Amino acid sequence: MAKRNGPLFGAHESIAGGVFNAIERGQRATCDTIQMFNKSNSQWRAKKLETKELDKFFAAIEATGVTVSTSHTSYLINIASPKPDLEEKSWEALKLEMERCNLLKIPNLVMHPGSHTGDGEEKGLTRIAENLNRLFDALTDNRCCLLLECTAGQGSNLGYTFEQIGWLIDRVEAKEQIGCCLDTCHVFAAGYPLSDPKEYKATMKQFDDSIGIDYLKIIHMNDSKKEFGSRRDRHEHIGEGFIGIEAFRNIVNDKRLQEIPMILETPKDEDTLAEDVENLKRLRSLVA
Ligand SMILES: [Zn+2]
Ligand SMILES: [Zn+2]
Repeated sequence: MAKRNGPLFGAHESIAGGVFNAIERGQRATCDTIQMFNKSNSQWRAKKLETKELDKFFAAIEATGVTVSTSHTSYLINIASPKPDLEEKSWEALKLEMERCNLLKIPNLVMHPGSHTGDGEEKGLTRIAENLNRLFDALTDNRCCLLLECTAGQGSNLGYTFEQIGWLIDRVEAKEQIGCCLDTCHVFAAGYPLSDPKEYKATMKQFDDSIGIDYLKIIHMNDSKKEFGSRRDRHEHIGEGFIGIEAFRNIVNDKRLQEIPMILETPKDEDTLAEDVENLKRLRSLVA
Protein backbone atom coordinates (compact mmCIF):
# COMPACT_ATOMS: atom_id res chain seq x y z
CA MET A 1 0.00 0.00 0.00
CA ALA A 2 1.25 3.50 -0.83
CA LYS A 3 2.46 5.58 2.06
CA ARG A 4 -0.35 7.74 3.34
CA ASN A 5 0.17 11.47 3.49
CA GLY A 6 -1.63 12.96 6.50
CA PRO A 7 -4.67 11.62 8.35
CA LEU A 8 -7.41 9.39 6.93
CA PHE A 9 -10.05 11.51 5.18
CA GLY A 10 -13.63 10.62 4.39
CA ALA A 11 -17.28 11.60 4.43
CA HIS A 12 -20.63 10.51 5.80
CA GLU A 13 -22.13 8.21 3.17
CA SER A 14 -25.70 7.01 2.76
CA ILE A 15 -26.78 3.42 3.46
CA ALA A 16 -29.79 3.69 1.11
CA GLY A 17 -30.31 0.26 -0.44
CA GLY A 18 -28.25 -1.56 2.19
CA VAL A 19 -25.33 -0.91 4.54
CA PHE A 20 -22.78 -2.20 1.97
CA ASN A 21 -23.77 0.62 -0.42
CA ALA A 22 -22.13 3.17 1.88
CA ILE A 23 -18.75 1.53 1.18
CA GLU A 24 -19.19 1.74 -2.60
CA ARG A 25 -20.29 5.39 -2.29
CA GLY A 26 -17.24 6.06 -0.17
CA GLN A 27 -15.00 4.64 -2.85
CA ARG A 28 -16.66 6.74 -5.58
CA ALA A 29 -16.25 9.83 -3.37
CA THR A 30 -12.49 9.07 -2.96
CA CYS A 31 -12.82 8.41 0.79
CA ASP A 32 -10.13 6.56 2.74
CA THR A 33 -12.74 5.92 5.40
CA ILE A 34 -16.42 6.76 6.00
CA GLN A 35 -19.10 7.48 8.58
CA MET A 36 -22.54 5.92 8.10
CA PHE A 37 -25.83 5.41 9.92
CA ASN A 38 -26.33 1.78 10.97
CA LYS A 39 -30.11 2.00 10.41
CA SER A 40 -32.63 4.55 9.14
CA ASN A 41 -31.89 7.75 11.05
CA SER A 42 -35.53 8.84 11.15
CA GLN A 43 -37.04 5.64 12.59
CA TRP A 44 -36.92 4.00 16.00
CA ARG A 45 -36.97 0.45 14.75
CA ALA A 46 -34.73 -1.40 12.34
CA LYS A 47 -34.81 -4.64 10.41
CA LYS A 48 -32.43 -7.21 11.87
CA LEU A 49 -29.04 -7.35 10.11
CA GLU A 50 -28.99 -10.69 8.31
CA THR A 51 -25.82 -12.71 7.77
CA LYS A 52 -26.08 -12.20 4.01
CA GLU A 53 -26.11 -8.43 4.39
CA LEU A 54 -23.19 -8.51 6.84
CA ASP A 55 -21.17 -10.71 4.47
CA LYS A 56 -21.77 -8.27 1.61
CA PHE A 57 -20.72 -5.38 3.87
CA PHE A 58 -17.43 -7.00 4.92
CA ALA A 59 -16.74 -8.08 1.33
CA ALA A 60 -17.19 -4.47 0.14
CA ILE A 61 -14.68 -3.25 2.73
CA GLU A 62 -12.24 -5.97 1.66
CA ALA A 63 -12.66 -5.20 -2.05
CA THR A 64 -12.41 -1.40 -1.83
CA GLY A 65 -10.03 -0.84 1.08
CA VAL A 66 -12.47 1.81 2.33
CA THR A 67 -12.88 1.43 6.09
CA VAL A 68 -15.73 2.49 8.36
CA SER A 69 -14.33 4.63 11.17
CA THR A 70 -17.61 5.43 12.81
CA SER A 71 -21.36 5.28 12.75
CA HIS A 72 -23.70 8.12 13.80
CA THR A 73 -26.85 7.63 15.87
CA SER A 74 -30.38 8.48 14.78
CA TYR A 75 -31.48 12.06 15.46
CA LEU A 76 -34.51 10.77 17.39
CA ILE A 77 -32.44 9.61 20.35
CA ASN A 78 -32.44 11.88 23.42
CA ILE A 79 -31.19 10.20 26.59
CA ALA A 80 -31.39 13.60 28.36
CA SER A 81 -35.16 13.83 27.92
CA PRO A 82 -37.16 14.71 31.07
CA LYS A 83 -40.05 12.60 29.70
CA PRO A 84 -39.53 9.08 31.10
CA ASP A 85 -41.12 7.32 28.10
CA LEU A 86 -38.95 9.18 25.57
CA GLU A 87 -35.89 8.74 27.75
CA GLU A 88 -36.46 4.97 27.92
CA LYS A 89 -37.23 4.66 24.21
CA SER A 90 -34.02 6.57 23.48
CA TRP A 91 -31.97 4.38 25.79
CA GLU A 92 -33.31 1.21 24.13
CA ALA A 93 -32.63 2.66 20.67
CA LEU A 94 -29.08 3.62 21.65
CA LYS A 95 -28.45 0.12 22.99
CA LEU A 96 -29.73 -1.35 19.72
CA GLU A 97 -27.39 0.92 17.73
CA MET A 98 -24.42 -0.13 19.87
CA GLU A 99 -25.31 -3.78 19.26
CA ARG A 100 -25.57 -3.16 15.50
CA CYS A 101 -22.17 -1.45 15.47
CA ASN A 102 -20.72 -4.52 17.19
CA LEU A 103 -22.25 -6.77 14.49
CA LEU A 104 -20.88 -4.49 11.76
CA LYS A 105 -17.50 -4.28 13.57
CA ILE A 106 -17.66 -0.46 13.50
CA PRO A 107 -15.26 0.81 16.19
CA ASN A 108 -17.06 4.08 17.06
CA LEU A 109 -20.60 5.45 17.33
CA VAL A 110 -21.09 9.24 17.44
CA MET A 111 -24.02 10.60 19.45
CA HIS A 112 -25.22 14.11 20.31
CA PRO A 113 -25.32 14.11 24.15
CA GLY A 114 -28.97 15.21 24.30
CA SER A 115 -31.40 18.06 25.03
CA HIS A 116 -32.91 18.90 28.40
CA THR A 117 -35.95 20.45 26.63
CA GLY A 118 -36.67 22.86 29.46
CA ASP A 119 -35.88 21.41 32.87
CA GLY A 120 -32.30 22.70 33.03
CA GLU A 121 -28.76 21.76 32.08
CA GLU A 122 -27.75 20.11 35.35
CA LYS A 123 -30.70 17.71 35.38
CA GLY A 124 -30.20 16.93 31.69
CA LEU A 125 -26.49 16.22 32.11
CA THR A 126 -27.15 14.01 35.14
CA ARG A 127 -29.68 11.93 33.18
CA ILE A 128 -27.15 11.47 30.34
CA ALA A 129 -24.44 10.28 32.75
CA GLU A 130 -26.81 7.83 34.47
CA ASN A 131 -28.06 6.46 31.15
CA LEU A 132 -24.52 5.98 29.85
CA ASN A 133 -23.48 3.96 32.90
CA ARG A 134 -26.66 1.91 32.63
CA LEU A 135 -25.89 1.34 28.93
CA PHE A 136 -22.37 0.01 29.44
CA ASP A 137 -23.63 -2.21 32.27
CA ALA A 138 -26.25 -3.72 29.95
CA LEU A 139 -23.94 -4.38 26.99
CA THR A 140 -21.92 -7.57 26.92
CA ASP A 141 -18.58 -7.85 25.07
CA ASN A 142 -18.93 -4.32 23.74
CA ARG A 143 -16.18 -3.31 21.31
CA CYS A 144 -17.73 -0.07 20.08
CA CYS A 145 -16.66 3.22 21.62
CA LEU A 146 -19.51 5.70 22.12
CA LEU A 147 -18.39 9.22 21.16
CA LEU A 148 -20.12 12.27 22.60
CA GLU A 149 -20.16 14.95 19.90
CA CYS A 150 -19.48 18.59 20.76
CA THR A 151 -22.63 20.48 19.76
CA ALA A 152 -23.38 24.02 18.59
CA GLY A 153 -25.67 24.63 21.57
CA GLN A 154 -28.79 25.20 19.53
CA GLY A 155 -31.98 25.30 21.63
CA SER A 156 -31.56 23.19 24.79
CA ASN A 157 -28.84 20.95 23.28
CA LEU A 158 -26.21 19.94 25.81
CA GLY A 159 -22.51 19.40 25.11
CA TYR A 160 -21.72 22.83 23.63
CA THR A 161 -18.83 23.43 26.03
CA PHE A 162 -15.76 21.23 26.42
CA GLU A 163 -16.44 21.30 30.19
CA GLN A 164 -19.84 19.64 29.73
CA ILE A 165 -18.35 16.84 27.60
CA GLY A 166 -15.50 16.43 30.10
CA TRP A 167 -17.98 16.35 32.99
CA LEU A 168 -19.91 13.53 31.29
CA ILE A 169 -16.81 11.47 30.47
CA ASP A 170 -15.62 11.90 34.06
CA ARG A 171 -18.82 10.29 35.29
CA VAL A 172 -18.72 7.28 32.96
CA GLU A 173 -17.18 4.29 34.67
CA ALA A 174 -16.35 2.33 31.50
CA LYS A 175 -13.62 4.74 30.38
CA GLU A 176 -12.41 2.58 27.47
CA GLN A 177 -15.90 2.59 25.95
CA ILE A 178 -16.42 6.36 25.91
CA GLY A 179 -14.85 9.13 23.81
CA CYS A 180 -15.46 12.39 22.01
CA CYS A 181 -16.10 13.63 18.47
CA LEU A 182 -15.12 17.21 17.63
CA ASP A 183 -17.21 18.87 14.91
CA THR A 184 -15.52 22.01 13.55
CA CYS A 185 -18.82 23.69 12.64
CA HIS A 186 -20.34 22.97 16.05
CA VAL A 187 -17.41 24.18 18.15
CA PHE A 188 -17.02 27.33 15.99
CA ALA A 189 -20.74 28.06 16.39
CA ALA A 190 -20.39 27.43 20.13
CA GLY A 191 -17.68 30.09 20.37
CA TYR A 192 -14.32 28.29 20.03
CA PRO A 193 -12.04 29.97 17.41
CA LEU A 194 -10.07 27.71 15.04
CA SER A 195 -8.58 29.85 12.26
CA ASP A 196 -5.82 31.98 13.76
CA PRO A 197 -2.98 29.57 14.69
CA LYS A 198 -2.62 31.04 18.19
CA GLU A 199 -6.36 30.89 18.84
CA TYR A 200 -6.49 27.35 17.42
CA LYS A 201 -3.77 26.31 19.85
CA ALA A 202 -5.67 27.87 22.76
CA THR A 203 -8.89 26.09 21.71
CA MET A 204 -7.10 22.73 21.56
CA LYS A 205 -5.49 23.39 24.94
CA GLN A 206 -8.94 24.04 26.39
CA PHE A 207 -10.11 20.78 24.79
CA ASP A 208 -7.19 18.90 26.31
CA ASP A 209 -7.66 20.48 29.75
CA SER A 210 -11.43 19.86 29.90
CA ILE A 211 -11.82 16.56 28.02
CA GLY A 212 -8.35 15.13 27.30
CA ILE A 213 -7.01 14.78 23.77
CA ASP A 214 -6.79 10.99 24.22
CA TYR A 215 -10.60 10.82 24.22
CA LEU A 216 -10.76 12.44 20.77
CA LYS A 217 -11.48 9.66 18.25
CA ILE A 218 -13.18 11.36 15.27
CA ILE A 219 -13.20 14.90 13.81
CA HIS A 220 -16.11 16.14 11.69
CA MET A 221 -14.75 18.56 9.10
CA ASN A 222 -17.48 21.07 8.25
CA ASP A 223 -17.31 24.77 7.43
CA SER A 224 -20.14 26.93 8.81
CA LYS A 225 -22.95 28.81 7.08
CA LYS A 226 -23.44 30.81 10.28
CA GLU A 227 -21.22 33.27 12.13
CA PHE A 228 -18.82 32.61 14.99
CA GLY A 229 -20.69 32.05 18.27
CA SER A 230 -24.07 31.89 16.51
CA ARG A 231 -24.97 28.58 18.22
CA ARG A 232 -26.54 27.58 14.91
CA ASP A 233 -25.64 24.30 13.25
CA ARG A 234 -25.48 24.74 9.45
CA HIS A 235 -22.71 22.97 7.53
CA GLU A 236 -20.92 24.56 4.55
CA HIS A 237 -18.31 23.34 2.05
CA ILE A 238 -14.68 23.47 3.18
CA GLY A 239 -13.31 27.00 2.82
CA GLU A 240 -16.63 28.52 1.72
CA GLY A 241 -18.08 29.40 5.11
CA PHE A 242 -17.38 31.62 8.11
CA ILE A 243 -14.68 29.28 9.47
CA GLY A 244 -12.49 29.51 6.38
CA ILE A 245 -9.73 27.34 4.96
CA GLU A 246 -7.00 28.22 7.50
CA ALA A 247 -8.76 26.39 10.35
CA PHE A 248 -8.67 23.18 8.32
CA ARG A 249 -4.98 23.71 7.54
CA ASN A 250 -4.34 23.95 11.31
CA ILE A 251 -6.22 20.71 11.96
CA VAL A 252 -4.84 18.46 9.19
CA ASN A 253 -1.28 19.48 10.11
CA ASP A 254 -1.68 19.14 13.89
CA LYS A 255 0.84 16.43 14.86
CA ARG A 256 -1.40 15.16 17.68
CA LEU A 257 -4.28 14.50 15.27
CA GLN A 258 -2.58 12.46 12.54
CA GLU A 259 -4.26 9.20 13.63
CA ILE A 260 -7.75 10.71 13.96
CA PRO A 261 -10.11 10.07 10.99
CA MET A 262 -11.43 13.36 9.56
CA ILE A 263 -14.95 13.10 8.16
CA LEU A 264 -16.99 15.52 6.02
CA GLU A 265 -20.69 16.09 6.70
CA THR A 266 -21.17 18.72 4.01
CA PRO A 267 -24.08 19.09 1.56
CA LYS A 268 -23.92 17.07 -1.67
CA ASP A 269 -25.64 15.58 -4.67
CA GLU A 270 -26.25 11.99 -3.50
CA ASP A 271 -25.97 10.67 -7.08
CA THR A 272 -22.71 12.23 -8.27
CA LEU A 273 -21.04 12.77 -4.84
CA ALA A 274 -19.10 15.50 -6.69
CA GLU A 275 -19.03 17.86 -3.70
CA ASP A 276 -17.43 15.16 -1.52
CA VAL A 277 -14.73 14.65 -4.16
CA GLU A 278 -14.06 18.40 -4.27
CA ASN A 279 -14.06 18.88 -0.46
CA LEU A 280 -11.74 15.90 0.04
CA LYS A 281 -9.38 17.31 -2.59
CA ARG A 282 -9.31 20.59 -0.66
CA LEU A 283 -8.56 18.88 2.66
CA ARG A 284 -5.79 16.72 1.18
CA SER A 285 -4.21 19.74 -0.52
CA LEU A 286 -3.75 21.36 2.91
CA VAL A 287 -1.48 18.62 4.24
CA ALA A 288 2.02 20.10 4.40
ZN1 LIG B 1 -23.62 14.82 14.60
ZN1 LIG C 1 -21.00 16.40 13.19
